[in-house]
Amino acid sequence: MKLNDPYGRKFKTLRVSLLNTCNLNCFYCTMGSEEDINFDHRPQKSAGFFSRIISRLHENLDLETIRLTGGEPLLYRELPELVRNLKLIGIPKISMTSNGYLLARQVAALYEAGLQSINVSLDAMDEASFYKMAKRKHLDRVLNGIETAINAGIEVKLNAVIMKGMNEDQIIPLLDYAFSKNIPIRFLEVMSMGHLHHESDKYLFSQQELLDTIATKYNFKRLPRTVSATSNYWQITAGNTFGIIANNSEPFCSDCSRLRLDAEGNMYGCLSNSNPIELNPADNDCVLQEKLQLAMSQKQLHHFVGSELSMLQIGG
Ligand code: SAM
Repeated sequence: MKLNDPYGRKFKTLRVSLLNTCNLNCFYCTMGSEEDINFDHRPQKSAGFFSRIISRLHENLDLETIRLTGGEPLLYRELPELVRNLKLIGIPKISMTSNGYLLARQVAALYEAGLQSINVSLDAMDEASFYKMAKRKHLDRVLNGIETAINAGIEVKLNAVIMKGMNEDQIIPLLDYAFSKNIPIRFLEVMSMGHLHHESDKYLFSQQELLDTIATKYNFKRLPRTVSATSNYWQITAGNTFGIIANNSEPFCSDCSRLRLDAEGNMYGCLSNSNPIELNPADNDCVLQEKLQLAMSQKQLHHFVGSELSMLQIGG
């Protein structure tokens, strides 16, 4: 099926939120509550359920990448089994976005199952800032997870959300850490999702402010943007690169190729649209294609407006 919109956009990457439960309480997702409020008591959908839906989507879209996320995907019970299934379905690239807290002990099984890359969300390099952002102790667990994954041969990238008044002092330490490990890092502008839907401006640390901060230590030049990339990239004189995902300053909606599936099997064509499109593994091709057209029509063209849904629900 050739599904694209008048602007030539296709769905090539599917982000799957496996569950709405998380073991961290990051401020941008959940207001940084001290309580464990991120626990979804509904049973997790099975690996078989996700595999059937993804297989149907792949038949229709010829997907290039699946990114497993959540909630925290390492809390999903059948994670290695699902990765194995996705390999069998023929998905070319299987990746995961994780906070890395439980990564070290799961790396071997995930690597064996066929997981190729992990984006680790890391917003701080010191214990106090880590606690401020995530309301959890033991940053060392995340760093250990990163080390273990690198040593196992999994590609690791870092994502850091920088929020004004919260962790802008962590930009240089994060960059130094990434350079020392020779792993790519991207800084994210905060997005107007969930409880920040109407007040993300208060916390926005813009692309320009990020560049100004990095310029206090490094010289760099901008690299050309590749089609469909979420991130702008710069190269420092020594050769390392860093990226900025500038949802606010330079939204990249016009060539976005992402489709999202939530933990209940609902599909979304855009982060800025909170109307779920319910999928059923038993949908025939005609029904599925109508639903995909609907998801495509949800895409924005220029502006990222966000939604009341937090990334915990729609999948970050
Ligand atoms: N638990 C996993 C993790 O921490 O990577 C996966 C889910 S989490 C929702 C994925 C990522 O979404 C976060 O780490 C963060 O980078 C991003 N995110 C969530 N809410 C955000 C917001 N309001 N603004 C910017 N990024 C956000």
